[in-house]
Amino acid sequence: MSKSVKDYVRSISDFPEEGVLFRDITPVIQDPQGFRLALEGMQELIGDTQFDVIVAAESRGFLFGAPLADRYGKGVTLLRKKGKLPWKTVSQSYELEYGSAEVEMHEDAILPGQKVLIVDDLIATGGTVEAAVKLVEKLGGEVVMAVFLMELTDLKGRERLKGCEVKSVIKYE
Ligand code: IMP
Repeated sequence: MSKSVKDYVRSISDFPEEGVLFRDITPVIQDPQGFRLALEGMQELIGDTQFDVIVAAESRGFLFGAPLADRYGKGVTLLRKKGKLPWKTVSQSYELEYGSAEVEMHEDAILPGQKVLIVDDLIATGGTVEAAVKLVEKLGGEVVMAVFLMELTDLKGRERLKGCEVKSVIKYE
């Protein structure tokens, strides 16, 4: 039987801390067939959605956002952790289970009116992508869809993104 993307994902208990089951995509992307299946799965979800630019989330989102952008003949721009981008930025903080984090985009990453597709490897609580949506909107863009390779459904991340279409190739409870 032919393999599915899920067959390539490695699940690791107690990483990065006890009680967490980490979904590791490194075996997916290091196998040409796994990588191809992952990109095709995301592409299928995007379908004929019209967008101008992809926002890829640090860091594993870059691995999917960049090749997808190329497949659609679009550019890719980066959502990064605070302090990594060299030019003028807009920033957004968001709550983590313990404490908070801050993400940034370059001020010229999105032009007013542009339609944006957000790409990341995984949606858990939805905090990261919610911050990404806020930044895109601060810059005058419109998020048309957020697409993920994986979704941890029990964490209900998609509920934080009311009004934005959220799609994922693989779901884990
Ligand atoms: P959220 O902000 O809680 O939705 O977490 C999503 C972010 O955390 C994404 O950028 C993921 O790369 C990362 N993340 C959280 N859990 C996992 C996991 O099990 N595997 C891979 N990345 C994860």
